Amino acid sequence: MSVRAKKHLGQHFLNDETIAEKIANSLSYKGYDDVLEIGPGMGVLTKYLLKKDVTTHVIEIDSESVDYLKNNYLHLANRIIEKDFLKYDLSQVFDDKPFAIIGNFPYNISSQIVFKTLEMRAQIPEFSGMFQKEVAQRICSKEGSKVYGILSVLTQAFYDADYLFTVPPNVFSPPPKVDSGVLRLTRKDNYSLPCDEKLFFRVVKTAFQQRRKTLRNSLKIFDLSDNIKANAIFGQRPEQLSVPEFIELTSLLENDKN
Ligand code: SAH
Repeated sequence: MSVRAKKHLGQHFLNDETIAEKIANSLSYKGYDDVLEIGPGMGVLTKYLLKKDVTTHVIEIDSESVDYLKNNYLHLANRIIEKDFLKYDLSQVFDDKPFAIIGNFPYNISSQIVFKTLEMRAQIPEFSGMFQKEVAQRICSKEGSKVYGILSVLTQAFYDADYLFTVPPNVFSPPPKVDSGVLRLTRKDNYSLPCDEKLFFRVVKTAFQQRRKTLRNSLKIFDLSDNIKANAIFGQRPEQLSVPEFIELTSLLENDKN
């Protein structure tokens, strides 16, 4: 590989074809015609996506990688988006069609990739790919776990999250300092919440900003009535609450206002 990795872009190129193929095989390819790969780099994963019965698009910020892809994957040429995934308005490519997301992601923007996916959930039935292992575990973790947090609750409100497998540093060049983990998100059949969704995001984020405090304390800014504060749920800390309980909590706050 002639291209030198750029650290600030989170570039760790995967050298292991078996793992690339395994990641490509982690999507079902059902229920959509298009797949978007974030950060294709030199195309190790792209190669396997191009064999699938879907249209593959890639979004890559690095012009050197884009040149490489243009020269080596001729079929892909007009579906290479040379942009920052976080800033680009994807409706320019997909309009309101559904598409899946996949990638060996740049780890420095992992959480933002997930947040943008959640914002676009109406169009994204499936998502899979590689993160830093800890982040992948956090997204998939359940209440009571030390790593359970904002990403876990918000993601699992809309998606079933499966941690698939761990990948060691030595299959990348340059090797990252940490293990990596591959996960898959499958959108729930019914992914609209029975509560105010905007308020749900605010409640979850606010509660975890002070994760050691009880909800009675951390949610003070919502100006709770004494009546509602008597509910036992407010004696808990955020990491104890399951996703359905966060939804219930949001409904309680919503009704408190009425
Ligand atoms: N998928 C390749 C490369 C992984 S490294 C492989 O497995 O070998 C992460 C890739 O994401 C790099 O190519 C980097 O240039 C790209 N990248 C980093 N930030 C990005 C962003 N904001 N939008 C799109 N691509 C990005």
